[in-house]
Amino acid sequence: MRARKIPANSVARALAKVGDRWSLLILGSAFQGAKRFDDWQRGIGISSNILTNRLNHLVRIGCLERVPGGGSRSAGYRLTSMGADLYPVALMFWRFDRQWSTNRALKSATLTHGVCGCGMTPVLVCARCREPLHARDVRYEPGPGAALERMPPPKVSRRSLVTLDGAQGPGLFGDSIDYFGDRWTQLVIASAFLGLRRFSDIQERWKIAPNILADRLKLLVDQGMLERRAYQANPERFEYRLTPKGMDIYPILLALMRWGDRWLATKAGAPLILHHRGCGRRLDPLAVCDHCGGVLDRHDVELRPGTPPAAAQAARGTGRRVRRVP
Ligand SMILES: [Zn+2]
Ligand SMILES: [Zn+2]
Repeated sequence: MRARKIPANSVARALAKVGDRWSLLILGSAFQGAKRFDDWQRGIGISSNILTNRLNHLVRIGCLERVPGGGSRSAGYRLTSMGADLYPVALMFWRFDRQWSTNRALKSATLTHGVCGCGMTPVLVCARCREPLHARDVRYEPGPGAALERMPPPKVSRRSLVTLDGAQGPGLFGDSIDYFGDRWTQLVIASAFLGLRRFSDIQERWKIAPNILADRLKLLVDQGMLERRAYQANPERFEYRLTPKGMDIYPILLALMRWGDRWLATKAGAPLILHHRGCGRRLDPLAVCDHCGGVLDRHDVELRPGTPPAAAQAARGTGRRVRRVP
């Protein structure tokens, strides 16, 4: 079979490395302080063979490194600079789930910023002017690394849901992982931001088989990410537009693109250059606290998993404590 080529993009590259559900869940736990095999097994309810496989994968691609045991310390793993740099991505996933998930535990989770001491929502802003970023405020142009490249191979062959049963509860990555775990779904979402609304346009750009494209469009409509609107009566034709929920996934894409540009670009450079219309400068996205505006460092942010309403009532009034992860 001939290799399928698509326009190079850093989001697809990033997702090809870390976009499978288990890798994201493992990284999310690492941001929460998981270091050892048992931490992950307990935290995300993952089987030991899958965990071994994904830890090896994350070491191989440079996001984790092994830490040998010695003295009273047992062997484990730590985030490399490349792995730690995915933190803004995790924050943007968290923000989206908090806003849109129907899972009560995800909706009621909180993040506390140790620097200002406040409960907060992470927000993605332009590093130069500090204005929050919206899709309409960003302008694209081909970068020095623009090219056609082979489509990344599938990471998981089927759409399948990770259940968090048996785990300690959701962490930074909740159910929106499912929009990204499948490469076709990712490309259909990307199309919407690139202004491709019609079936034939999307199919032409990515060379997706019609049955697969129809399936993914239906999935995204069912999930409330896209809306189907008739644009022609006879024969009836539809176009697909982002809903407010769909638009709100933009900070996740920007955070992934930033990471892909930084760690996965070819020598030529970034495939796409972004400019912020607000200040007219090249866009560099930054995750900050919506309360104090400070740049978010994972060592200063505490995640409190959501609790059922009754338990939340009982816990009210207890002092806030920020756990510092060494
Ligand atoms: Zn700006
Ligand atoms: Zn703050």
